Amino acid sequence: MAAPTLIHGPQTFAAVPTILSGGVAGFPETAAAGYAGTVLVQISGAVAHPGIAEVPFGVTIREVLDVAGGVPAPHKLKAVLVGGPSGGILPPEELGTGFDHDSLEKAGAHVGSGSIVVLDQHSCVVDLAAVLTRFCADEACGKTIPCRIGLRRLAEIGARICEGQPRDDEIARLTDLSVDIVGSALCDHERRATLALLSVVRYFRDELDAHIVRNTCPAGICQPKAEARAGVS
Ligand code: SF4
Repeated sequence: MAAPTLIHGPQTFAAVPTILSGGVAGFPETAAAGYAGTVLVQISGAVAHPGIAEVPFGVTIREVLDVAGGVPAPHKLKAVLVGGPSGGILPPEELGTGFDHDSLEKAGAHVGSGSIVVLDQHSCVVDLAAVLTRFCADEACGKTIPCRIGLRRLAEIGARICEGQPRDDEIARLTDLSVDIVGSALCDHERRATLALLSVVRYFRDELDAHIVRNTCPAGICQPKAEARAGVS
């Protein structure tokens, strides 16, 4: 056609064949839980077959992992990051959550970029949450001060915990600041950027306490407090 075309929403275009072949009336029938159509999910990490799967909207996270061949031994499923860099980190007990907007919001994640990253026993969810929060802070456009400054302070809390140098009441500071950030959000970037650390507080309290109270990282990723003080990198 000699006319360059910018496709900004490939998933929308991917739905066209389904609608054309089944008709608009048949489109909703492909989805579970009252949702319409299918969703493309990028699956990466500790699964047998990483890639992109097209699944009915609303199928469970577990069913999506099954499409990717599950988690092969010797890997053991520890968590799934759902929704991309501003997503939530969910434990295996939440695999029954539907991959749809309402269900993921309730679980503390969101559809977001339509991605699932599967973490095994060698991953540290605290480290991951801290890195994601730092990324989101760096990505803030800067228009809203609570986002620009608040996310940076939130990322610093995550870094202190990972570096074995938490202050008193760090979890309360983290959750209070997150409430303020979400309450002042101008866009979804700010609202979602708190999800990673909040999901660790919600689901992985033992691992968080191991870092804060016992100065250890169960996965061996973060730097223990003693090493941090000694300047060991
Ligand atoms: S809330 Fe949105 S608009 Fe405001 S600084 Fe953050 S990214 Fe920019």
